[in-house]
Amino acid sequence: MGARPRKVSILSPDLIIKDLEKYRQLALDCGASDALMIKASSLVVQERVRAKCSIPKCAEYGTNQHCPPYSMSAAETKEIVKDYTYALVIRVDVKPEYAAGAKIHECYIKGKIDEAGRYRLLGKEYKKVFFVVSEVESRAFYDGYYLALGFAAGSCKNVFCFKMDCQALGRGKGCRWPLRSRPSMEAVGFDVFSMATGLGWTMYPVGGRSEPEEVPACSLVGLVLIV
Ligand code: SF4
Repeated sequence: MGARPRKVSILSPDLIIKDLEKYRQLALDCGASDALMIKASSLVVQERVRAKCSIPKCAEYGTNQHCPPYSMSAAETKEIVKDYTYALVIRVDVKPEYAAGAKIHECYIKGKIDEAGRYRLLGKEYKKVFFVVSEVESRAFYDGYYLALGFAAGSCKNVFCFKMDCQALGRGKGCRWPLRSRPSMEAVGFDVFSMATGLGWTMYPVGGRSEPEEVPACSLVGLVLIV
């Protein structure tokens, strides 16, 4: 999408609020199920969230630039968040059968696609979160919010570099997808469940032992720190 840049200047509070609503609408137009503007001070960041990447150890741990131990620590994230006033939180709803149940969990562990292709469909939903987040971040950047910073859901390696080595970890090489790939919120310490629940969104723990029919709602969540 093209983006005519706006001259960088001190923006009035009214224009900032108008822009924030524009980004919320952009997120919806890009495929988000819902998007809400929140005060950055309400974001919850804790080191124990990041600890869940290694206990039990995720298959993506240590495999790419945007997952621990290479992603920012929760302490670094907290330091960054306190310089922002507003953030946009986006939600992408996923069919529970794409994410819950033993078969999907096995696909995740073994990196295989199941017969019904549900794991592949889950990957498409993850990709949507990266798309929405990067589109909003980019639009805000060209509007003069040059420090807009996006966070997605899940591992960029699974979404963009499946079965390939992470190029960004190589010496002197950057990311293959620098304009789309972002750390997951959890990888840098954001407590997504707590935040989403606080916004009134319905959240359930989803995993190999939760069957799809037991999960009334399943969502992926992304975030853009705007200003
Ligand atoms: S998108 Fe690929 S190259 Fe970029 S950080 Fe993720 S795994 Fe590495």
